[in-house]
Amino acid sequence: MSHHHDHEALHGLDEDGVRDRLKKAGLRPTKQRIELATLLWSQGCRHVTAERLHRESVDANIKVSLATIYNTLHQFTTSNLLREVIVDRGCSYFDTNIDPHHHFLCEDTGELSDIPHDQVEVKNLPAAPDGAVVSGVDVIIRIARKKTAAKQHAAH
Ligand SMILES: [Zn+2]
Repeated sequence: MSHHHDHEALHGLDEDGVRDRLKKAGLRPTKQRIELATLLWSQGCRHVTAERLHRESVDANIKVSLATIYNTLHQFTTSNLLREVIVDRGCSYFDTNIDPHHHFLCEDTGELSDIPHDQVEVKNLPAAPDGAVVSGVDVIIRIARKKTAAKQHAAH
């Protein structure tokens, strides 16, 4: 069995490129999808929440509801244009990097950052239950700032 991913990302595509890429993914290139895709992929690899993309749309004068943003993000994910990273119940990031990789999650800022796939080795995985195969393993390493000893405030 081969697990096929289309690694051709949308980073750096112009509007025509985005339109072609959406079509190839089986999505009708509506004006709204093109606008949101351009917002998503114009800034290099990144991880965005639906709320953040909604704020960016408002700032860019794209009139779109949060519900539409959610729908669009899920359509992009289903079409393998994005990868959803669920970090907690009720908190998903949408990752423009669809190649296999892992993440650091900073508990102080809530930011995700990428860890290259080959920097994590997962050993002793249990066998998949009957009738199932392992389709992927992704690791989230939770990090927090080191607690420094009582900070010295400027002396009074
Ligand atoms: Zn990532």
